[in-house]
Amino acid sequence: MEEDNWSRFEATCRQCRKCPLCETRTQVVIGRGEPHRVPVLLVGEGPGEQEDLQGKAFVGRAGQLLDLLLESLRFEPTDWYIANIVKCRPPGNREPSDEEAAACLPWLRWQVKTLRPAILVCLGRTAARHLVDKDIRITAARGQWVERQGFLILPTWHPAAVLRDPAKKSDLWLDMEKVRLKLDELRREGKYV
Ligand code: SF4
Repeated sequence: MEEDNWSRFEATCRQCRKCPLCETRTQVVIGRGEPHRVPVLLVGEGPGEQEDLQGKAFVGRAGQLLDLLLESLRFEPTDWYIANIVKCRPPGNREPSDEEAAACLPWLRWQVKTLRPAILVCLGRTAARHLVDKDIRITAARGQWVERQGFLILPTWHPAAVLRDPAKKSDLWLDMEKVRLKLDELRREGKYV
């Protein structure tokens, strides 16, 4: 039944024209991962060029870096799903406007409700602004757990920022290690099976 709901969600979302990004997209990028209950939902900013072409989230160089990181920290493919604040590519990879994000967030909320993660990872400032605090400063907030509406949220660098500035790589690694340890802890305590 859940899969039927997800298929209906995808079909509706792919037709979305709720904001101007629909005019320039190649396709709507729903996310990447299995649409089952997952403990960790990673949220980025928006699709880039490769994502827009292939229709999947985080398949470019930043996604490859993230995959490597998830694999090296022993995350199973069933442990995570990855999506973005907006589901259509902003032209030139600019940051989505607040209006575009507000138009798109109901889709992400539906995914959160369906995937029922315990942990949300905000990849970069844009995700942290829309999921934690509009005035967030990512340099200060990264690596610090926040609790919101029953979710444990960890802001960290976007992998694309790490590609631009390799000095941030160890921070991203450390933060994702925290996610790994928190997930192990939740499972040990029987809070997430
Ligand atoms: S970005 Fe979101 S709200 Fe805007 S058209 Fe795409 S799916 Fe719809």
